[in-house]
Parts: sequence; C-alpha cells; structure tokens
Amino acid sequence: MSRGLSRQQIAFLDILDEKHGMSTTTTLKTMLKNTMKNKQSFYRSLQSLEKRGEIRFYRSGRVGGLVCKKHGNVLLVDFDSMIPNLALMKLSAWHNAKGDNVLLQRGPKIADGFEKYDIAYISCVFSTNARAARRLAKILSTSIEEVHLGGSGVDLKTTLPDEIERMMPDYDLYPECDYSMGHTTRGCIRKCPFCIVPTKEGSIRAVADIYQFWDRRHKKIVFLDNNIFALPEHFKLIANQVIKEGLHADWNQGLDIRLLDDEKAALLKKIRKSEYLKFAWDDVKSEASVRRGIEILKAHGIKKSTFYVLIGGPGSTFEDCLYRVNTLRELGQACYVMPYNKEELFQDRRYFYLFRWANTRQLFFICTYEEFVNNWESGERNKMAAERRKRIETEKHPPPVIHGYEFNSIEI
Ligand code: SF4
Repeated sequence: MSRGLSRQQIAFLDILDEKHGMSTTTTLKTMLKNTMKNKQSFYRSLQSLEKRGEIRFYRSGRVGGLVCKKHGNVLLVDFDSMIPNLALMKLSAWHNAKGDNVLLQRGPKIADGFEKYDIAYISCVFSTNARAARRLAKILSTSIEEVHLGGSGVDLKTTLPDEIERMMPDYDLYPECDYSMGHTTRGCIRKCPFCIVPTKEGSIRAVADIYQFWDRRHKKIVFLDNNIFALPEHFKLIANQVIKEGLHADWNQGLDIRLLDDEKAALLKKIRKSEYLKFAWDDVKSEASVRRGIEILKAHGIKKSTFYVLIGGPGSTFEDCLYRVNTLRELGQACYVMPYNKEELFQDRRYFYLFRWANTRQLFFICTYEEFVNNWESGERNKMAAERRKRIETEKHPPPVIHGYEFNSIEI
C-alpha cells in the first residue's frame, strides 16, 4: 500500500483502519507519539492525505476528527425500539460522516437485497426478542462481512466506541423524531435489585451537556439520564442550559424524588412544560421521602407530576403496590404503573386490574380501584365500552338522510 505515501501517512491510514475508518487527531497523535517528528510534519502529512482523497476532516457537535474516505453500504436494523434508537442515530451520523450509504430497517425482518451491504448493526432492546435477533444476525452474516448485534436486550456490557458515542445523533434517520435526545450522565448511585443500570453503566458520572446532542431545530429535549439529581451541580448546569435556550425538557427515565430539594424544585419550575415531569416510587419504604418531595414541589407551584410505579418487583406485595398507587392518587399525582415480568404477573388478575385502572387517566381520578374492579367484573365496563364504540362508529359513518329523514328512523 505504498502509493507514494510516507511512512507516517501509512501509519495514519493503518490506525484509521484499526479504528473502523475514523479517529480524532488527538488519538492519532497519542498513538504515534514515538514516531512523530513534529507537529508541523504531522499536520502537513494529514493535509496531503486529504488532497489525495484518502481522508477528510469532519466536525460533529464539539468533536472534530478525521475520516478515512472509504465508501460502504451500511444497514442499521432497529429490531424493537419503542422510541428512536439513539445508538443507531449515532452510528448513522458516524457512517454518514465517512461518506457511507446508510439504510434504516425497522422491525424484525430481512431487508430486500441485504447481500449488497458491507456492514450491518442490529439493535435489540428487549430481552424477550433476543433469540429472534440472534437468528436474524446469523442469517445476515451469511452474506454481510461484518454484522454487529447489540442493545440491552442481548448484552449489557457492549458500548459504542468513544468516537461514535460523542457524535451528534443523526435525527433525520427517524423522520418523525421532532425532539433531541441523549445522556448527560451515565450510571446511578443506587443498586435497585430489579434494575440493569448498575450492571450496565456502573456508578454515576457526568458525560455531556445539552450542546453535544441538542439539534437547534428542536424545541423539546429528552434526557435519558438515570439519576441526574445525584449530581446536583451537573443538574444545575443542565437545567440552566435548558432555561437559557427556552426548551421543553423531559427526563423520561424518571427523577429521584428522594433527592429533591428546594433549589432543584425552583429550577424545575422555571423549565417550561413542567407537565413532562416524571418521578419514580418503587419501594414502599421511601414513603416519607416521597411525601416530602411532593410537598416541596407543591410549595414551588408544581401541583401535579407523573410517578412511575413498579408493581410486582422483587420483595413487593400486591398490598404495597396498591398502597403506593392509592397514596399518590390521594396526593393528586398521576401514576404510570410498570409491571415487572408482565406475563407472569398478570396471571394474578389483581395486578392486571391495577395496571388498567392506574394507567387509564380518565378513570384513575374518578373511580377507586375497588369500583373499577366491580365495574369490570359486572360487565358494566363492557357495556360502557360497547356504547362508546357505537357512538364513535355513528359519528364516523352517520346514517344517510333521505328527504329529511334519517334512514334508520324510517319505519318499514
Ligand atoms: S434509582 Fe433508578 S436507575 Fe438507579 S438503580 Fe434504582 S431504578 Fe436503577
């Protein structure tokens, strides 16, 4: 591979190959520190490589780097995500910057003409789909040279390389995505027995601010942080950035109410659209902190938030699940009940009713759990649902009117 290249330039290209075609100048300098003559010759060599079309420079958010100019066809498979898949959006940005052609395939199917792809990434989020995702990976690897399978459904340890992790996500990959999303922290200070975060991400640390993933076209920003309240200074920084840019913020993994204080509540109040506020209450033993947190919120004018409530988790009973939901209802808070191991849990009908009642906003505040169960079991609910269906159907397809008479009102 001489092509009239200097030894230093060949070393650059070797490193870029090793790093999947992309690297920052800092990484290159570190890896070449023993053989590099001086800074000037380093940048001269790079510029000449760029002129020859071997590499090109790129910027992404605050990150700059190099691109090895090799074009390939890349298939991204979003196997089962419920929301736009952040890892795939970063991979898309990475490959677009390299000049590759990227195609997104959604759902567990085999893309037409998959043989033409050079590389495929499959992301599987739910462990219930892991077997099917592995099967797909096996089929694709019969024709595609490089197939990567990842996501919390199949593997808790694999992460994206740093260079890709720092990329600004390619939001255009999901045309319906009208918000920005990302992590400003990773990890958590707690070790809840039902949660994968401590194993997957370890202890908490700050990793970014909003400018690393906020696309200025978006008015809403979704944070995937697991417990940002555990880093109060970092939370202050992020909240102030959100306020300064006038964004609607959604910490969609739920905030830790046990760590709420006046300063944090005042910042939350300043953030527009506080109806996006979500907290979590998973353990009945935290009742005192939850009550205290709700009082603080109310004192700052935040009357209502939504609480994620895990039901059927390790060590919990049906009575304590119902107690948590009822307590939140009495305090005027909405619930989003999340069943642990749904299929198994719903064999006990009480959990199923709790799930249906608490997650149906229109019913939650107007009837109690007991009333809901009675209505359901007496068939009252079915009658109401049938009437509602009939009404909707009639609104959609009103009976024809002939000479002023409704057709179905003419007596024959
Ligand atoms: S506080 Fe939340 S993120 Fe942290 S371990 Fe518990 S459930 Fe997981």
